[in-house]
Amino acid sequence: MNAFDRDLAGRLDALRAAGLHRQLRRVDSAPGARLEVGGRKLLNFSSNDYLGLATHPALRAAAMRAIERFGAGSTASRLLGGSLAPHHELEEALAAFKGTEAALTFSSGYATALGTIPALLEREDVVVLDRLAHACLVDAARLSGAKLRVFAHNDLNELEDILRWAASRPPTGSRPARVLIVTESVFSMDGDGAPLRELVELKERYGAWLLVDEAHATGVCGPDGRGRAAELGLTGRIEVHMGTLGKALGASGGFICGSRTLIEYLVNRARSFIFSTAPPPAAASAALAALQLLQSEEGRARRERLQANIGRLQAAPLPGLRVESAIVPWILGEEARAVAAAEHLRERGIFVPAIRYPTVARGAARLRISLSAAHRGEDLDALVAAVAEWLATQTQPKRA
Ligand SMILES: *Cc1c(COP(=O)(O)O)cnc(C)c1O
Repeated sequence: MNAFDRDLAGRLDALRAAGLHRQLRRVDSAPGARLEVGGRKLLNFSSNDYLGLATHPALRAAAMRAIERFGAGSTASRLLGGSLAPHHELEEALAAFKGTEAALTFSSGYATALGTIPALLEREDVVVLDRLAHACLVDAARLSGAKLRVFAHNDLNELEDILRWAASRPPTGSRPARVLIVTESVFSMDGDGAPLRELVELKERYGAWLLVDEAHATGVCGPDGRGRAAELGLTGRIEVHMGTLGKALGASGGFICGSRTLIEYLVNRARSFIFSTAPPPAAASAALAALQLLQSEEGRARRERLQANIGRLQAAPLPGLRVESAIVPWILGEEARAVAAAEHLRERGIFVPAIRYPTVARGAARLRISLSAAHRGEDLDALVAAVAEWLATQTQPKRA
């Protein structure tokens, strides 16, 4: 082993010792409610495909039609190589769906955050994040160079303290500092929601802007799956709507919805949009097919099935599981304990990944159970039985 690999191997050993080592598990089937992993069929509670659209015939057909017509790759940045029609069709449909003037798509949700937040803010500005905001929002906030402040999860009082502090800072140069609040509408690892109405009132009172990442609400919450901002009638009062096309929409990519001016500005200033090859046309066409599905009778039926599955798990007597949405955290604390619980479930044919630091805080390791419309009642019953069995093994009093 050379010095380079020795250095890295030492760091990997440290991760192993801390129970934080991760590895890929190869899947040899389509990513549906059942997965083939290492020659075994497992029930899959790990995916964000909340409506089971990723393998839907309409998305497959749309992607294949786009490949036939436009080829496999986009060949260049959209500003450089011409902007393929499927991206425009998708953006028009997204804007109509979210009820905003315009939309812009990126190659992923991660790239969306990384392009957008640094484009909006400069060094003198302030970005305020919920403590549980997704890593891409944190990275984007850091990359912006703006002053970064964090408030405790959903804590409006602490947020207001920060807004008051930001408003009291002396202006540097010719303009007051911009303040951008960043949160999620359904949190990715806890499944709970942000108090959007109160956040909007607060940011309006302080003249701040709000970015709401609806990665886990798009397709699932609100009328036709338009998200929680739409559900609460807040669309026009939120400056920046963000989402991903890779979760409930079953395709790939990310998006911003907002005013025409915002979108024109991002085309000019969002570096992850400008300096990156456009997503493949097939991804855009699949996402467009998903949007159409969401607004159909079938979309409604799939959301109802997902709600029924959430209800079924809510009704199960499993202390420790917090069932508020399709994302069900089962907090186990210690990293090793979460890994052991995941192993217990895997032995019983159920695939749920252990989520550890740095995805969640140290000592807040958990299993993240995600539910889908593609799960059948008996799938949930199998999950409940396996979790109950683990809980029963844990109730023996610990020896001192
Ligand atoms: C998954 C996720 C993203 C990133 O989206 P990708 O399309 O997967 O890159 C952004 N924000 C939140 C809250 C997410 O959960």
